[in-house]
Amino acid sequence: MDLKQFIRDVPDFPKPGILFKDITPLLRDGAALRESVRQLAERLRATPVDVVAGIESRGFLFAATLAIELGVGLVPLRKPNKLPYTKLRESYSLEYGTDSLEMHQDAVNPGERVALVDDLLATGGTMGAAMRLVERAGGRVAACLFVIELSVLHGREKLVGVPVEALIRY
Ligand code: AMP
Repeated sequence: MDLKQFIRDVPDFPKPGILFKDITPLLRDGAALRESVRQLAERLRATPVDVVAGIESRGFLFAATLAIELGVGLVPLRKPNKLPYTKLRESYSLEYGTDSLEMHQDAVNPGERVALVDDLLATGGTMGAAMRLVERAGGRVAACLFVIELSVLHGREKLVGVPVEALIRY
């Protein structure tokens, strides 16, 4: 199945000049949704994973379904001030300013192998912060998984030393 046909381009969202890759048609189609999760799991065939961590908020959708498929647990990596308990924070640069991701301090145990999941890889700043959170907790990043990669932005060059997999590339 060609998953690309389920991605909708929305020009100038959320601001002028951005071509937004909308995954909602993929989510809406039962066969495409199941196929996307199957393909994510397939990319991890030779990679042992103890836990899946997903990035707020569209990353949660694929991380949770992948965790169920693999039979492992799920860790949410959230925007600032959403998680209730003691947490670690990592910041990353945006086009204008910075943003941060947080993870509960006890979400990943030392030595655990973590598969990180987001819907889309652009500049790699978000996933880079996710990697640092896992590493600070003593975990090992087993792989970074995306549904979509915008390869022209070379985000994977920021994700050094780990397998980077994307189902759909532009
Ligand atoms: P980056 O940190 O630059 O790799 O940006 C990745 C994050 O921003 C992901 O969580 C995406 O959901 C979101 N994102 C960036 N660019 C786009 C885009 N063109 N369409 C949809 N989401 C995007």
